[in-house]
Amino acid sequence: MEKDETPLNHSTDDDQEISAEQRAYIKKMLERLMELGIGAVYGDEENDNEVMIDHRGRLSLCRAVCCSFIFALTKEEVQKGHIQWNPKRPYFIARDENGFCTHLDRKTLICSIWEERPQRCRQYDCRQDPNVWIDWEKQVMNPNAFDHLLKK
Ligand code: SF4
Repeated sequence: MEKDETPLNHSTDDDQEISAEQRAYIKKMLERLMELGIGAVYGDEENDNEVMIDHRGRLSLCRAVCCSFIFALTKEEVQKGHIQWNPKRPYFIARDENGFCTHLDRKTLICSIWEERPQRCRQYDCRQDPNVWIDWEKQVMNPNAFDHLLKK
């Protein structure tokens, strides 16, 4: 019998730990399954903390780039049925042809489902995200913050 050389067959020091290679392999396999219409992913939010940020004066800089990030909805959010998800990649948030969440009003850069936005959006703190801000206080954005959208 041929030896299984997939990353999942490689043991780690601690069986509870998943290596970065194994994580990448699982992600790739999940994506393949989803492309075939077999798999689905639910988000698993750790807490229900809500981060409130005063965005005044920032939207003209950040252009709501955080609303172009990919994440999966929780089972409860999918069951509620008010948030659109990508039918090709259930249950990841639906995005438009420009890569932004379909719930983002592109003119005002305001979330159209703000009161019922996903838990992930409630917890996200862009001030702590170096992919977005190099210095939140001084309003210095990461120059590569929009790169993922250019690759689309
Ligand atoms: S649901 Fe609202 S806050 Fe969340 S990514 Fe979409 S537009 Fe942004």
